[in-house]
Amino acid sequence: MQKLKIAIISAHSCPVGDLGTKDTGGMSVYIRELARELGKAGHAIDIYTRIHDPNDPRMEDLADNVRLIHLKAGREARIQKMDVYFSLPEFTFNLENFWKYNDLKYDIVFTHYWMSALVGKYLWETQRIPYIAMYHTLGAVKNAIGIGEGESELRIASELETVHDCRRIIVATEQEKDDLIRYYDAAPDKIGVVPCGVNMELFSPSDKAATRRQLGLNDEKVLLFVGRIDPLKGIDNLIQSLPLLKEKYKLVVVGGDENSRQEMEGLKSLASGLGILDKVDFCGSVKQEKLPLFYSAADVCVVPSYYESFGLVPLESLACGTPVVATAVGDLSNIIEPGINGCIVADNSPQKLADAITMVLGNNNTESKLTIRASVNRWAWSHIAEKIAAEMKAVLEKQPAAVA
Ligand code: UDP
Repeated sequence: MQKLKIAIISAHSCPVGDLGTKDTGGMSVYIRELARELGKAGHAIDIYTRIHDPNDPRMEDLADNVRLIHLKAGREARIQKMDVYFSLPEFTFNLENFWKYNDLKYDIVFTHYWMSALVGKYLWETQRIPYIAMYHTLGAVKNAIGIGEGESELRIASELETVHDCRRIIVATEQEKDDLIRYYDAAPDKIGVVPCGVNMELFSPSDKAATRRQLGLNDEKVLLFVGRIDPLKGIDNLIQSLPLLKEKYKLVVVGGDENSRQEMEGLKSLASGLGILDKVDFCGSVKQEKLPLFYSAADVCVVPSYYESFGLVPLESLACGTPVVATAVGDLSNIIEPGINGCIVADNSPQKLADAITMVLGNNNTESKLTIRASVNRWAWSHIAEKIAAEMKAVLEKQPAAVA
């Protein structure tokens, strides 16, 4: 089997950054899990991101055949996304120098998010290294949904440019493929649909009573939200659904940091206005290694999002054997099998969420943890990495590789 040299570009978000914080979520998980599996299969992966902390090691080994390289671009601190955009020329300059001085050559570049696609475009134009782009979210789609801050014309124009320029686009769902065709006029045969995955070793079921004791939870029903604290996640609707529940419950909200303090305060005052602040625990962001504890302690994990490009949290919950109530966003209609591992709601209105939560909590037929876990076996990262490697090889077959 042909082994590839792959450069993964994630300029704006570090794959080992704190998850659940403002700009660091599913995309970071995707990059490091995919890289680990590709490395395990014998491919050589270098992941490039910008230095966001002066203590960042310039280069570190993340796994077998996987290195993470931090390049200087702008202030060595967390900076606003648009400041990352303005530091892209410096990022690209340092990337090229790093390649030159270390005599590095790659078969293919895999870019993540719109800003990194611009780096891919530059590398294609100057060095003829083919690039595959993955956008994770699309500006035009976010604007069409109209929740949260609007996305800039610059973002949409950059997406448009790279959608037409890149060698191939990877999306995680058929919906995102349709969106690319509808909003960006992308050529359908240029788009490969490969779902995201879940780490089945990390996410596995543990005893509910024991995990609850560890987290200091009592015997009320435990509802769980995990994710970045972002208006698109619909957490406000979930909080509004709580007074409609008949059972005694506790909602545990995992995610959020200093940069999402404003959103957190808004959610707390919403809960306080409803007289249920004592029933909601805001835990802030939690290291991913600790998340299986939360999923195992929960009776149901709720994903009330308006938009997800895929939705890793529901997969993780199911891998831990905990059912999910979710809107039909991302790939959730394919993942959730009603009556087996959870319930899909038609929309995230408080009443619909409350009805679905009540149904899942009271569903005596909900299968055992192991059956719920088995429902997501096919999303194990090893399967996903094979598909991505096949996509890369297909691109290279269409054109000779740049490596000497
Ligand atoms: N996550 C985490 N700690 C937190 C919150 C989230 O490790 O406090 C991880 C979670 O395990 C998941 C990812 O962040 O893998 C969120 O991915 P998802 O696709 O659900 O949402 P996105 O961030 O892409 O919108």
